[in-house]
Amino acid sequence: QAPVVTIDGPSGSGKGTIAKLVADRLGFALLDSGALYRLTALAALNAGADLDDAEKVARIAANLDIRFAIADAEVSAILDGVDVSQDIRMERVSMAASKVAAIPEVRDALLQRQRDFRTAPGLVADGRDMGTTVFPDAPVKIFLTASAEERARRRHAQLQGRGVSVSLRDLLEDIRARDDRDMNRATSPLAPAEDAVVLDSTEIDIQGVLQRVLDLVQQ
Ligand code: C5P
Repeated sequence: QAPVVTIDGPSGSGKGTIAKLVADRLGFALLDSGALYRLTALAALNAGADLDDAEKVARIAANLDIRFAIADAEVSAILDGVDVSQDIRMERVSMAASKVAAIPEVRDALLQRQRDFRTAPGLVADGRDMGTTVFPDAPVKIFLTASAEERARRRHAQLQGRGVSVSLRDLLEDIRARDDRDMNRATSPLAPAEDAVVLDSTEIDIQGVLQRVLDLVQQ
């Protein structure tokens, strides 16, 4: 089995950025598992499905026609042949993703799809339950956190950079709502694996976190 580095944590902790950098350094494949939940949410919204209809949303998750394309070191998400990379980052889809992710049947439907990303020479997988549920045998597990305020500030800066104006308070509320749902759901709630190393990115910058992760991989 190819080795897996799992990077779990709440929304906005920087795990996506770190996962990309680590995969790049090690020449490993990358799994952005959140994108699978976002794609499920977008497909469900497009189909006009009721997000509380577990069976229907699970069927959509099981039948997703998706592909990840890499160009200029950027990963794009293709749903039914259409590039939806921008669409799946919208706040509306983020909220819907966290709702569909609470459905156990949806998590089941996406499990094997995620495991299929495991390939030589290795995989970096980022999400919420990579270390606990999807790759419990991963040799290196990271749990990356940051305070909710710091995560809201980062998201705010990112959106402002794109010319999107939203209030910091609304973002903080969204982040807290998503944290709450992620941590309190019945299946695979957000929590560090017993053997995960917990890093707080409120106190260490990206380069510092990257170095810590690479050190752990080399141990
Ligand atoms: O990581 P990202 O914010 O893109 O994930 C979108 C949503 O998908 C999260 O709010 C979370 O509820 C869900 N998710 C999950 N398990 C994962 C990855 C994401 O439940 N492994």
